[in-house]
Amino acid sequence: MADLGRIDGKTKLIGFLAKPAGHSKSPAIHNAAFRKLNLNYAFMAFEVGNEQLADAITGIRALNIQGFSVSMPNKIDILPLLDGLSPAAELIGAVNTVVNHNGQLIGYNTDGIGYMHSLAAAGVNYKGKKMTILGAGGAATAITIQAALEGVAEISIFNREDQFFPNALRNAEIINKKMKDTNCIARVYPLEDLARLKEEITTSQILTNATDVGMKHLEGQSLLPDPSWLHPSQIVTDIIYFPDRTKLLEQAIAIGCKTINGLGMLLWQGAEQFRIWTGQEMPIEDVKQQIF
Ligand code: NAD
Repeated sequence: MADLGRIDGKTKLIGFLAKPAGHSKSPAIHNAAFRKLNLNYAFMAFEVGNEQLADAITGIRALNIQGFSVSMPNKIDILPLLDGLSPAAELIGAVNTVVNHNGQLIGYNTDGIGYMHSLAAAGVNYKGKKMTILGAGGAATAITIQAALEGVAEISIFNREDQFFPNALRNAEIINKKMKDTNCIARVYPLEDLARLKEEITTSQILTNATDVGMKHLEGQSLLPDPSWLHPSQIVTDIIYFPDRTKLLEQAIAIGCKTINGLGMLLWQGAEQFRIWTGQEMPIEDVKQQIF
């Protein structure tokens, strides 16, 4: 929605660097929140891939742009171009948010924070609990590390033996070796080991799908081979939000589990970005009503 009346000589710009960029809901989300709170900021998306990233960062520094959001394919490539990282972004090894602190570009990762917040907002107490997570890609990595930081006691990570499997091993090693003070224990298994999958799902309080299975060409599919492995006291979450009910969530609803889809993660990770850039709380209910 054009909103040029709000823009004046003091408007602070927040950018979005991704390729493709045009599909993103972030400009609508953040501009709605700026408008609601009457903050003199504007959010614009820029189609920037890896090849233009260094030039884009030089430009951001030259123009003293206040901050920006980062998505694929730039979340890892941006690391050496920044001046510092939050502790979580350093452990995750990827950045989705950058703020300009007096010329210093500091990177954060709000994906895992957004996921954990979506659990808390749904009344889930995850501290001391066991989680089974399916996936070890970008989103799964952020969730796994943040879950350990926020007090989840045990995490069983499953990934098929594809190019992401080494990530699963890396995530577990970071938790078990570098994050000893969290007391979280992480274990990795191949998704193909169905006996182990059953054992870990059955003994977890939270099951999370953080793979692509359930959306786009994989819509209607689930990585849970047998819904009877679930019990009604479990929380089943899927970070996919389109469709809003994946096959996994349908299986879980049929068993009587509490379910959470990925919309909360999307909104809360954006709310955390908003807080990092503006120091203010995002009016999340307004944003939800206007955009979704
Ligand atoms: P990614 O490409 O980094 O990781 C993909 C993951 O899916 C890997 O673990 C891979 O092994 C697994 N996978 C892919 N196809 C599979 C298959 N057929 N069987 C088993 N495993 C398979 O992607 P990502 O950025 O981590 O995103 C993963 C999912 O999370 C996507 O569906 C994305 O839309 C969703 N997501 C949601 C949010 C949110 O805010 N709710 C944020 C980021 C990503």
